Amino acid sequence: MNENADHEGLRLALGGYVLGALPPAEMEQVRAHVAACDECRAAASAAGSS
Ligand SMILES: [Zn+2]
Repeated sequence: MNENADHEGLRLALGGYVLGALPPAEMEQVRAHVAACDECRAAASAAGSS
């Protein structure tokens, strides 16, 4: 799998992603990664639980 290459960079964008603060293209990129990555899905879920 190649998801780890995205993981390093997109993990840093998760904070903006849960706030909806990223540019649309980046939101889509993070969303696609989160769908495939258990670790980032858990992190996004925890950060966006408010
Ligand atoms: Zn990830």
